[in-house]
Amino acid sequence: MKAVAFDYLAPRDVAGALAALAENGAKLMAGGQSLGPMLNLRLVRPRIIVDISRIAALRGMEERSDSIWVGAGVTHAEIEDRGSGMLRAVAARIADRSVRNRGTMAGSLAHADPAADWPLALSLLDATVHLRKAGGTRTVPVDSVMEGAFTTRLAEDELIEAIEVPKLSPTARWGYYKFCRKTGEFAEASAAILLDPERRVARVFLGALNGAPRACHDLANQLAQGGKIDAEARARAIATTAPDLDPIARRMHAGALDRAIKQVFP
Ligand SMILES: Cc1cc2nc3c(=O)[nH]c(=O)nc-3n(C[C@H](O)[C@H](O)[C@H](O)COP(=O)(O)OP(=O)(O)OC[C@H]3O[C@@H](n4cnc5c(N)ncnc54)[C@H](O)[C@@H]3O)c2cc1C
Repeated sequence: MKAVAFDYLAPRDVAGALAALAENGAKLMAGGQSLGPMLNLRLVRPRIIVDISRIAALRGMEERSDSIWVGAGVTHAEIEDRGSGMLRAVAARIADRSVRNRGTMAGSLAHADPAADWPLALSLLDATVHLRKAGGTRTVPVDSVMEGAFTTRLAEDELIEAIEVPKLSPTARWGYYKFCRKTGEFAEASAAILLDPERRVARVFLGALNGAPRACHDLANQLAQGGKIDAEARARAIATTAPDLDPIARRMHAGALDRAIKQVFP
């Protein structure tokens, strides 16, 4: 199957993109790595594609005093090449280099695939999402973006301008593990852990669920207090956080959690 016919616009600035996006039936395209297949399967039938990949103002990635600013046009490959820490490690395991050369963090958030890497990693890191539409801007926590599988709370005429990721302190430790059949594939199960005592942060999240990533609060509290996380504690956390998982998915998530914990406490 091929995509329905559409007009293609490639504005050179954000104002042009927002004006085009306000048109009826317009849809943004960043890297096209998720949108392309959706178009070909006719799961989306836009009248106008607004390609934002050539907007220089969206392509910046910079270190600020307390955060890393990632513009909506920054690709996974650029984060892999120029990023550091957890962002770099997560980017490097997304798909293969050809997908990473075009796909973006913002596109991944807006696509809201439950198995994707950025929704999990950015929830763990408590990132902030900067949104813009013709009428103004707003800033929201990343965990308020994804409503469910492939659905977000973004308005149709709203664009993710950038994602701002808080910096970790030098003593912070993190673990990130995704189970997939082949290297670089979407996760079958995933888990992520962050322990940053200097900032009084302890978080544990599960990904690749039926919707958005979910926090395991009890496990995070246990980790913060230096408690031992045994198989029973992991199983209990998964049963509480994701009671809807079938037995096989529960085992895969328990394995992912175990491995993420071992990255923090080898
Ligand atoms: C073979 C293959 C393997 C993959 N494996 C993985 C993997 O292991 N892990 C993983 O996480 N992902 C994986 N992906 C998905 C990949 O990361 C995509 O790049 C990503 O999901 C979408 O980013 P994009 O920039 O290509 O967005 P696009 O495909 O251009 O757009 C996706 C959606 O986001 C919207 N959108 C894009 N940019 C914005 C914006 N700035 N503001 C608002 N809405 C926007 C579009 O309208 C569209 O609805 C894979 C993809 C492929 C093709």
